[in-house]
Amino acid sequence: MHTSSAAAPAAPAGGWEASFRAHVADLPETLAPQRSPSHAVAAGRMRKLVQSGLVRHTDVRDDPERFFGAHAVLSELATRIGPGFGIRFTVQFNLFAGTIVATGEAGHLELLERMQQRGQLGCFALTERLAGVNSGLVVETVAEWDAQRACFVLHTPHDGAAKNWISQGTVADYAVVVADLRVGGKRRGPHAFVMQIRGESGALARGVSLGDMGDKTIGNDLDNAWIRFDRVELPRGALLSRYAAVSAEGNYATRPGAGGVANIDMIGQRLYTGRIVIAESAVIFAQSLFGAAQAYSDAKRVWAPGGAQPTLSDVPQLAALYREAGARLLRLRELLRALRGVFGPLLKEGTVPPASLVNVVAAAKVRCIETSIELCHRLKQEVGSFALMAGSGFERIDYLQCCKFAEGDSRILMQKMARDRVAAFRKQQPQQQPQAPGAAGEEAWLCGRLLSALASQGQAGWDGAWEDVYRLADLLVQRYMDEFMEGRVAGPGGADGGGGGSIV
Ligand SMILES: Cc1cc2nc3c(=O)[nH]c(=O)nc-3n(C[C@H](O)[C@H](O)[C@H](O)COP(=O)(O)OP(=O)(O)OC[C@H]3O[C@@H](n4cnc5c(N)ncnc54)[C@H](O)[C@@H]3O)c2cc1C
Repeated sequence: MHTSSAAAPAAPAGGWEASFRAHVADLPETLAPQRSPSHAVAAGRMRKLVQSGLVRHTDVRDDPERFFGAHAVLSELATRIGPGFGIRFTVQFNLFAGTIVATGEAGHLELLERMQQRGQLGCFALTERLAGVNSGLVVETVAEWDAQRACFVLHTPHDGAAKNWISQGTVADYAVVVADLRVGGKRRGPHAFVMQIRGESGALARGVSLGDMGDKTIGNDLDNAWIRFDRVELPRGALLSRYAAVSAEGNYATRPGAGGVANIDMIGQRLYTGRIVIAESAVIFAQSLFGAAQAYSDAKRVWAPGGAQPTLSDVPQLAALYREAGARLLRLRELLRALRGVFGPLLKEGTVPPASLVNVVAAAKVRCIETSIELCHRLKQEVGSFALMAGSGFERIDYLQCCKFAEGDSRILMQKMARDRVAAFRKQQPQQQPQAPGAAGEEAWLCGRLLSALASQGQAGWDGAWEDVYRLADLLVQRYMDEFMEGRVAGPGGADGGGGGSIV
C-alpha cells in the first residue's frame, strides 16, 4: 500500500455538510447511465434540491464556504455520475442566481426567494453560436429600449447570434440573458436581463424559440439548448440594474458603486467564482479517479520473476505516477483552498477582486484542468485493463473536457494573460529589443519577441508567434500561482511537504 494516495481527503462529518451529502446520496442511482435518465428526471431532481433549501440562491454572497463546499461534494460524485448534474447545479446557484445576487436589486432578489420556495430552475444565456468562447467580449443579441412602449425588445439579429449550449435551457422557468443594450440608438454594451422564459403550463414566452443541442459524449442527463429571441418584449424591471439602469423617461445611467467597472465585468464576477469551482472539480475528479485506480491496483497481484507476487501498485512506473500525482494534486487543492479563503470575504462584502487576484484565478483554472487531464491520461496508459472497465470512472474522463472551456476557455484565458503582460511590458520598456533568454529571463525575452512581432505585423504577427504566446502564458500561470502561494504554503517544499516549493 502506498502512502501517497491521490484519493480525495475525507470530509468532516456532521452539520450542514452531512445533511447535504445525505440529500445527494441517491444521485448515482437516480442518474445511473444505464437507466438513461431523461432531462425531466434530472431537472426534477434539481428542483427538489433547490426546494430543500440546503443551498440558498444567495449563498454565493452570504455563505461562500457552503457555496464552494456544495460544489466540492458534487464533484466527488463525478466519476460515477459525470458532469451533467454538477453543471446544472453551478448554472443554478452560480451563473443564474449568482449573477442576480451580484447585479440585481431588491425585486430580483425576491424573485430568487420565490423560485427557491417553488423549486424553480434558471439558466444563464451568454454563449452565442458565432462568438463561441469569445462570448462576453462579443455579444450580438440585442436589447433595444423602446421609449414608446416603455419596454426592452430582445432580439436575435441573425443565426450566428443565437444563444447556444445553454445548460438547463429546455427546462428552465427563468433565464438570465446577456444582450447588447441600446438606448436612444446608442450602444451601451453587454447587460444582463432576467426573464420568465416558460410559463407555469410549460409554454415558452412569446417570441422565444429553442431546441436541444443533441446527444453529447457525456452528461446526457443535462439538456443544452439553442435559443432565439424574436422581438421579445421585456419590462423595464428585467434589466439587472444595480450598476446600470434605464429610467422611466428612457435615460441610461450607471449607478454609484460600480467604481468605473464596466457592466460586463460585474456580470463577469460569476465567472471568477465559477473558475474556482471548476478548477476544484477537475482536481477532485482526478483525485477520485486515482483513488479508484489505486484501490484496484493495491489489490491486484501481478507476476514477477522468482515467484514474488507484488501488487500492480508496486510496478515502478505506476508507483512513481501515484507519488507524483498525489503530490501535484494535493498542492493544487491547497492553492484552491487558499483562493477560496481569500475570495470568501470579498464575496460577502461584494468587493470586486483586484486584477492580480483575477490573474491567479485564471492561472489556477488553466493549471488545475491541464494537470488533471495530463495525469488522468497518463494513468489510463499505465493501469492496464481497469481503464477499460465500465464503472472505473475512466468512461467519464470527458468530464475534464467540459471543464476546459466552461467559465472562460483555457486558451482564451492564456491569450489574455499574454496580451496583458506584453501591454505592461510595452509601457515599461517601449524601446525594448528582444534579448537573449538568459539575459532578462525567459518571460521578458518572450515579451520582447512578441512586441516585435506585433510592431512589424500586427495581429498576424501575434498569431504567427502563437507558440511564444502560450509559452509566455505558461510562465505567467506558474509565476502567478507561486507568488500567490508565497508565505501561504504549509511548510518547506509546499503544501504536500515534499519536493520543490512551486505549484505544478
Ligand atoms: C456542456 C456544456 C455546458 C455549457 N453551458 C453553458 C451555459 O449554461 N451558458 C452559456 O452561456 N454557455 C454554456 N456553454 C458554452 C461554453 O461555455 C463555451 O462557450 C462553448 O462550449 C464554446 O463552444 P465552441 O466549440 O462553439 O467554441 P469555439 O468558439 O468554436 O472555440 C473552439 C476552440 O477554439 C479555440 N479558440 C476559439 N477562439 C479562439 C481565439 N480567439 N484564440 C485562441 N483560441 C481560440 C479554443 O481552444 C476553443 O476551445 C456550455 C458548453 C458545454 C459544452
